[in-house]
Amino acid sequence: MPARPFYHLNPDVHCLESTVVDARPGRVLLDVSPFYPGGGGQLPDRGVLRWRGGELAVSGFENAGGGTWILLADPAAEISGHVEAVVDTAFRQMMRELHTGTHVLNAFVFQAFDGALVTGVQMNDDGTARMDFDVPDADNDTLRALEGPINDAIRQNLPVRDVYIPLAQASGEHGLIRSKSVAPPPTTDDLIRIVDIVGLDRQACGGTHLSETGASRPIRILKIDNKGRHNRRVRIGLVNA
Ligand SMILES: [Zn+2]
Repeated sequence: MPARPFYHLNPDVHCLESTVVDARPGRVLLDVSPFYPGGGGQLPDRGVLRWRGGELAVSGFENAGGGTWILLADPAAEISGHVEAVVDTAFRQMMRELHTGTHVLNAFVFQAFDGALVTGVQMNDDGTARMDFDVPDADNDTLRALEGPINDAIRQNLPVRDVYIPLAQASGEHGLIRSKSVAPPPTTDDLIRIVDIVGLDRQACGGTHLSETGASRPIRILKIDNKGRHNRRVRIGLVNA
């Protein structure tokens, strides 16, 4: 697996000529794939593969033998040679907005509740997401009031960058690892990817984000549930998703 996946290096390239390097009925391995295969609470990309004489929807991804196989909607399909891999841009955009929104929410919860950690995150295909935070005795009104600052951060159009730093340095910087479930594995050269919303938040993450916060639709806090004594579940949604 390459140290820097294509979807990290080229989050805006959604159509790519590629070559099948291995194939089984209903699945292929490409020399380079533009698809985000899912993980860290972000849903896998949707899209299609096109080749001379055919087109099939991508139905999922599976890691095996050191590569990420692309599963096809027709389990009997056998494809070889050159293909065009096309990411569903609207779906990817929604995931990038939700994913960036979860970082912004996380930043304000982390500030308001003294380093509260994330215990779970899930983005949904209806333009909503939920985040679980370990915030003992949290006042839900304080959580609800974060909607204003979240949308201020969107309006400020803050740049979002990714940088790679040594794993040892990441472990030593307070607040960089917010959630064991979201932190990506280190690269083959022992670096960890940090997503930096400039001036607001830095945290380890392996997903796809916007390049600036202003590319997001506004966000509403839809619901706050108490999940046990320590846990608060915050549901957010993109306006007009
Ligand atoms: Zn992220």
